Amino acid sequence: MTHARKLLIASTNRKKTAEMAQILSAADLPVEIVTLAEYPDAPEVQETGATFMENARLKATRAAAHTGLVSIADDGGLAIDALGGAPGVQSHRFLGADTSFPVKMTHIIELLKDKTDAVRTCRFHCAVVIATPDGQVFESEGTCEGQIARVMRGTYGFGYDPIFLLPQLGKHMAEIPPETKHTISHRGKALASAIVHLRRLFA
Ligand code: IMP
Repeated sequence: MTHARKLLIASTNRKKTAEMAQILSAADLPVEIVTLAEYPDAPEVQETGATFMENARLKATRAAAHTGLVSIADDGGLAIDALGGAPGVQSHRFLGADTSFPVKMTHIIELLKDKTDAVRTCRFHCAVVIATPDGQVFESEGTCEGQIARVMRGTYGFGYDPIFLLPQLGKHMAEIPPETKHTISHRGKALASAIVHLRRLFA
């Protein structure tokens, strides 16, 4: 089945939408990339899923049903081993959705202040779902391993990037420019598989 030559990024997070748009644009797909900003009456989707994938599926399928466009959504977050995988699916809502990221990160640094490097391990997860208006769904995932740093550093990226240390690079995620982040990030990896699928879909 052929699909309208538009691909909708179904995210309300401005910075995440920008990252997805950068990665998808670089793939040079034969589609026009549009965002939810162009569909202000799209229903807000409550992230009620128990997993990243369930939430991504909710966002992508609702957007596809509402707009009639092939839609791509992601859901992700930070899992910290010393906190039993928290904040996990609650990453955005950790300490309250309106609490700033510097406050969330300061709290995490405090919670881990007595932990040695060996037990500061963490990872970013990203689940991506492509949904078509006729009910097809494609899913992919990516992870990026790191450690919770003892201080915040860097101004690139968003969310928890300033406390996410990449030990092999000796840098925090927020110190890495976007093009480099996309080559190693959870989102870059999950979208790489999604792009293979999109090429087939829009061929
Ligand atoms: P979502 O918008 O519900 O998917 O929330 C994901 C949350 O996970 C974001 O608000 C951030 O808190 C966090 N997160 C996901 N990906 C990243 C990333 O690449 N860098 C930093 N934080 C991220």
